[in-house]
Amino acid sequence: MKILRSPSAFRTELERLRTKSLRIGLVPTMGFLHQGHLSLVRRARQDNDVVAVSLFVNPLQFGPREDFSRYPRDFARDCRLLKAGGADFLFAPQARALYGPRFQTHVVPGSLAAPLCGARRPGHFEGVATVVAKLLNLALPHNLYLGQKDYQQFLIVDRMIKDLDMPVKAHACPIVREKDGLAMSSRNVFLSQAERVQAAGIWQALKACQAEIRTGERQAQRLARRLRSQLGRLTLGRVDYAEIVDAATLERVVKLKSRSTAAALVAVYFGRTRLIDNLLIKVP
Ligand code: AMP
Repeated sequence: MKILRSPSAFRTELERLRTKSLRIGLVPTMGFLHQGHLSLVRRARQDNDVVAVSLFVNPLQFGPREDFSRYPRDFARDCRLLKAGGADFLFAPQARALYGPRFQTHVVPGSLAAPLCGARRPGHFEGVATVVAKLLNLALPHNLYLGQKDYQQFLIVDRMIKDLDMPVKAHACPIVREKDGLAMSSRNVFLSQAERVQAAGIWQALKACQAEIRTGERQAQRLARRLRSQLGRLTLGRVDYAEIVDAATLERVVKLKSRSTAAALVAVYFGRTRLIDNLLIKVP
């Protein structure tokens, strides 16, 4: 696995392979890798000749009071995992290499970025869309792999790719969970033992919502209220949001339509650690 620090070296390496008609898959990450990230690498390995992973804790997508400086980092361990996981290139730039002193251009997503995490983290998705656009422009991959864990992010990036005619296909990969159902996340490392036990309740609440829909509940606001109340029982947690929306538009609906797909999306704080999770639910 070749480690590249400079954007121009990353571009040149991949350009050379692209001209040989090799297919390139890109997996963007912020590092402190876990099995969720590695599942994306595996999928990229299956679909492509060349797998490039980026590791960059993007300052642009963190608000001033968010956890940019304490975001977990372990570069040596990430390198070992990626080598074993089958990555060919690791692009790990410094922030100043991506955002020079005169940097001023941003990608501004539309209505998909308004609700949920977009409402709670102003500017977050602008930062995400901008860095993903830059990574795509450098790597020009054929395929881009994102996790369904960040479902709103996936929809926004997929929309950006289509709206801006970027020559890449975005794939959403399934959420990898711990045995008790907690979605894997780099931030899980911050949970105390007691918080870690309760955090599995997020998955229980999402499953309960799915069960209600399967047994006939169609009123989205009633489902959302019960989801919030079940999450409210996690005494160490604080619900940031819990919503039932249309899975394609992220818009609120009054009544779930039969054969549509609903998305139950939640964000819960445990102390200063904010966890997100979601479940896509086919309405019978
Ligand atoms: P991050 O490093 O948290 O920015 O995540 C990098 C990519 O990995 C994003 O596309 C995430 O959606 C994806 N990802 C994070 N956690 C998981 C998980 N538990 N299962 C699947 N994909 C994930």
